Amino acid sequence: MTDTSEKIHQCLIIGSGPAGLSAALYAARADLSPVVLSGMDLGGQVSKTDAIENYPGFDSILGPEMVTLFQEQAEKFGAAIVFDSATEVDFSKRPFKVTTYGGEYYAESLILATGASIRELGVPGEQDLTGRGVSYCATCDGHFFKEKDLIVVGGGDSALKEGIFLTRFAKSVTIVHRRDELRAGPYLEKKAKENPKISFMWDTIVTEIIGDGTVNSVRLKNTKTGEEQVQDTDGVFIFIGHDPNTELFKDQLDTDESGYLVIDQRMHTSMPGVFAAGEVGDPHFQQVVISAGMGAAAAMEVTEFLEEED
Ligand code: NAP
Repeated sequence: MTDTSEKIHQCLIIGSGPAGLSAALYAARADLSPVVLSGMDLGGQVSKTDAIENYPGFDSILGPEMVTLFQEQAEKFGAAIVFDSATEVDFSKRPFKVTTYGGEYYAESLILATGASIRELGVPGEQDLTGRGVSYCATCDGHFFKEKDLIVVGGGDSALKEGIFLTRFAKSVTIVHRRDELRAGPYLEKKAKENPKISFMWDTIVTEIIGDGTVNSVRLKNTKTGEEQVQDTDGVFIFIGHDPNTELFKDQLDTDESGYLVIDQRMHTSMPGVFAAGEVGDPHFQQVVISAGMGAAAAMEVTEFLEEED
C-alpha cells in the first residue's frame, strides 16, 4: 500500500467502480498522480456482477475481470489505489480534507465516485436465498430460469424493463407492486401489459421469501385488505431502486430529492473543485459504460480546473 497521506494531492478520487477507475486512468495520464480510495469493494457493484455483455469491445467479460483490467490500466499510468474508505469529508476550504479509517488526505480537487447501492426489501429469507433464487440482476441471472415462474418486485422502469427481459427465459413473470399505479413510464407500461407472459399483482408487498436451499414461494400481503397468501415461485427478482451513496456529503453538496448529487453536464457539483461521476450523480442510466464515460469526463474537467488556477 502506498503511503499517500500527509501531503496535498492534486486529485483524490473516492470510489473505485467504473467511474472512479476510469477517472483515475484519465487523471493519471494527465500527470495528476491521482489517489483512489477504493472503499470496501474494489470495483463496486461491477465486482459482484457476473457477465457484462454490453460494454463495447467486450463480447462478454466477468465483472471481477473487468475491475482488474481497469485497475491495472490506471496503475500502469501512475494512479495509486488505496484500500481504505472515507469516513468524513470537509469541503469548507481547500485543500479539501478527507478522513479515512487509515488517516487523513488533503486534495486540491476531488472526484466523488461512490456509486449507488441496490435497495433490498429487508424481508426474512432475502439474504439467505440471494444467489439461490433471489436476484437483483436479470441480465446476470435470467438464463438460470428457463421455463420457470418468476416474481418481480417493483413498479418502476427497472422492474418493467427487467421483467420484460426475463420473459425471454421464464414461463411467467408476475410483477408485484405495492401500489395500484406504476411509477414506470407509459412506454414500458404498455410493453409490459401487452406481454402475454406478464401479469400484475397490485397493492401487494412481499413479506417473506421462503425456500429450503432455493426459493420455492413467497408470502404476500395485500396492502389494502391486509389479506396474506403464500404463492409458489421459482425465483424473486427485486428492482425497487438504488440509493446513492451520498451520506458522506450530506449538507455540503446539492442533492436532488432522491439524494443523488446534482452535477452539471461537465461533472461539476455545487462546490468548485469537487466533481462527481457515475451512479452517485446519475439516477437515470446506471450503466457501466456511462459511469466510465462520466469518470473520464470528470478527470478531464479536474485537469482543466487545476490548469486554469495555475
Ligand atoms: P424507481 O424509479 O425508484 O422505482 C422503484 C420502484 O420500487 C417503485 O415502483 C417503488 O414503489 C418500488 N419500491 C421502492 N421501495 C420499495 C419497497 N421497500 N417495497 C416494495 N416496492 C418498493 O427505481 P428504478 O426502477 O430502478 O429506476 C431508477 C431510475 O432509472 C429511474 O429514473 C428510471 O426512470 C431509470 N430507468 C430507466 C429505464 C429505461 O429504460 N428508461 C430503465 C431502468 C431505469 P413506488 O412506486 O410506490 O414508490
